[in-house]
Amino acid sequence: MVKTIQLRISIEEETIEGILKKKLSDLLHVDENEITGIEIIRKSIDARKPQIYFNYKVAVYIQEALPKNSGYSFEYKDVSKAKEIHIIGFGPAGMYAALRCIELGYKPIVIERGKKVRERRRDLRAINQQHTVDEDSNYCFGEGGAGTYSDGKLYTRSLKRGDVRRIFENLVYHGATEQILIDAHPHIGTNKLPKIVENIRETILEYGGEIHFESRVVDFIIKNNTLRALILQNGTEMNVNSVILATGHSARDIYYLLHNKDVALQAKSFAMGVRVEHPQHIIDSIQYHCEGERNELLPAAAYSLVQQVKERGVYSFCMCPGGFIVPAATADGEVVVNGMSPSKRNNLYANSGIVVEINVEQDIPTYNHFGALKGLEYQKDLEKLAYTSGGRSQVAPAQRLTDFVEGKLSVTLNDTSYQPGLKSAPLHSLLPKLIGSRLRTGFKAFGDKMHGYYTAEANIIGVESRTSSPVNIPRNEHLEHPQIKGLFPCGEGGGYAGGIVSAAMDGERCAEAAVKGILN
Ligand code: FAD
Repeated sequence: MVKTIQLRISIEEETIEGILKKKLSDLLHVDENEITGIEIIRKSIDARKPQIYFNYKVAVYIQEALPKNSGYSFEYKDVSKAKEIHIIGFGPAGMYAALRCIELGYKPIVIERGKKVRERRRDLRAINQQHTVDEDSNYCFGEGGAGTYSDGKLYTRSLKRGDVRRIFENLVYHGATEQILIDAHPHIGTNKLPKIVENIRETILEYGGEIHFESRVVDFIIKNNTLRALILQNGTEMNVNSVILATGHSARDIYYLLHNKDVALQAKSFAMGVRVEHPQHIIDSIQYHCEGERNELLPAAAYSLVQQVKERGVYSFCMCPGGFIVPAATADGEVVVNGMSPSKRNNLYANSGIVVEINVEQDIPTYNHFGALKGLEYQKDLEKLAYTSGGRSQVAPAQRLTDFVEGKLSVTLNDTSYQPGLKSAPLHSLLPKLIGSRLRTGFKAFGDKMHGYYTAEANIIGVESRTSSPVNIPRNEHLEHPQIKGLFPCGEGGGYAGGIVSAAMDGERCAEAAVKGILN
């Protein structure tokens, strides 16, 4: 017999050997010897009150053998001679599109502007240390996309949009820890992601797919409203039938290219703001009701905050406990910050984007003349402002949180994890009012919700501008661009995803749509 049971175990009980079995035996009124196996389905932490619990959902096997884990397998086939589907971009959307093509018996040909993961590292060092941004190889561009040197949090709100479990199992198949199948808030960590990405590359090549690195697509040949060929920056022309466009939200050249070719695009509402960084122990003490160090059984504490301010949401985004703030610019002349953390989340700082919703139809009327690109131009201007106020390098403008809210320039700043360095700047007056004034109200409200959060020991750092795409590339019910046959806008760049998991799911769906398009 197998029973699914939910139970909770206090943090003190958690260290007692065999506690799960004992509790289950009491709960089910069966002898411990009769419990032949326990499978943990889900584990989460309940830290709402000072007494902290672990919530478990388990399958209990009573006088029945626990099935052997046969591993996770996917039906990949040799596609070396199969029909081709071209995929631009090798981020989560592109990677999962390629894997799905192979499962469906089609040959993916991936074209990626950046370098392989290991080679990317050198360019990341250059951004951090020399402040030079390679436009094809940075925190957003290169093998694995923005997902590689990211935090690797695998939360998604798009539960209906596909099979999240399938995405996770495929990550495990390619080397991720099985823990992601259990944790309520699964996380991989930036130190583990490159190997997983390499393994995905190996699968694609092993089954006959192709991946072309350092190959930026610079033009599309469109004839009779059908995409016929891609032009790469080295002049190569590639004939195509079906193209999955998975270039991410930072590939502005792609938006300009489509716009200049009169391919329909739409402005999309998005969010921008700053990143806030606290010492991790402050967040731990608030969330775990502790003084001093958190219990060693507990991970670095996270938070999620939201506040409505003057009809716009102000909310935390991509919160990274025990993490680092990184320079995520994709071109010189801009400063963009983002966050990541290692698998152990053992750095001294907690950082999070705190962003304000921008309604592109109402909030930025002076940008209306840019049409579908108005949100993008507004985003660019904010990044330029951060660049100039940081001193024209990757040094980012920053302010103590309390000074920002009180409207004072910070005389000194707190220590930071942001490697290129910080410069004190009056962000309270520099940021557009639409963002700055809402952030100030929002931060105060967050301090009321989490006592100790509103503190001079936190810095805010500008700017967090790449939360999601400011442009939507439309698609019809077949996921094809309504005007261009053979073009399948995909993932975050198309406006169809907001994170690793949703991008991966959209990649799978676009592969299925491209295959259907070929069959019909
Ligand atoms: P991308 O990952 O942006 O991939 C697009 C790819 O297309 C890139 O590799 C790029 O080089 C390539 N490309 C662009 N233009 C061209 C061209 N012209 N020709 C050829 N190739 C091109 N999300 C989470 O869910 N959890 C997290 O913890 C998390 N942390 C993050 C931390 C950081 C520092 C960053 C930058 C992002 C983070 N994200 C996180 C966001 C997440 O990485 C993205 O949502 C996700 O990667 C989007 O996937 P995508 O495949 O749609 O696009």
